[in-house]
Amino acid sequence: MKRAAFGFLSLSLGTLVLGVNGFATVRPESAESTNGAHTRVAGGTLARAFFTAASRGGDDEDRAAVRRRIRSERAGTYIDDILSERDSAICRWPDRNGVPLTVWIQPSSPVAGFTPDYVARVREAFHSWDALGLPLHFAFSDDSASAEVHVSWIDHFREPISGRTRWTRNDAWAITDADIVLAVHHNQGEQLDEDSMRAMALHEIGHLLGLDHTHDEMSVMAPRVRVRQLSDADRATVRLLYSLPVGPLR
Ligand SMILES: [Zn+2]
Repeated sequence: MKRAAFGFLSLSLGTLVLGVNGFATVRPESAESTNGAHTRVAGGTLARAFFTAASRGGDDEDRAAVRRRIRSERAGTYIDDILSERDSAICRWPDRNGVPLTVWIQPSSPVAGFTPDYVARVREAFHSWDALGLPLHFAFSDDSASAEVHVSWIDHFREPISGRTRWTRNDAWAITDADIVLAVHHNQGEQLDEDSMRAMALHEIGHLLGLDHTHDEMSVMAPRVRVRQLSDADRATVRLLYSLPVGPLR
């Protein structure tokens, strides 16, 4: 049977701001994340096979129970920042019963300054999130056609950003596919060093997982990222997110 799902497109943008005096500190800055643009998604891939398995928000009683859980477990997380951005809905990849999400990272690029070491840094960033033991795992694929997540390179963005994540969710608030674009050069022309690329990838993968920005500047999901590693709050927030059913909370 031929089927199609209507999704909602989310776009998250990130900017790297280089430190002054040539200092290596990099502060990725993400500009915005918006929902509402509809995109038509053809059915048939592995991700969409789980469309029907996506849990839903349930009735009012279920939603109240989830809200109570969040209230009791939100300490040390920035889940409230995310819910305010998502209009109080839990949005993430659906449960996949152990089937990993396949990720293709563009292995080479004609972009000036590109190095395969960037690929290695992006892989490390995926491993950092994967090490948290979430129900969602990643598996790298050499086949871009069958991969569910794509990471690709451009020279630079016209906008003052250095990374962009686009994902689509279905009407049950389950993410169905996602793509990340990373820039080799900052908008002003400077080339990203490897640590900067890794930091940018950590931030964008956070968006891919369903996280949004936090006011906590010590977390990688801060709009202007000052850290190079996941924070305790990053870990706690994504773990809480993946313990909750998808769907609206009110
Ligand atoms: Zn961002």
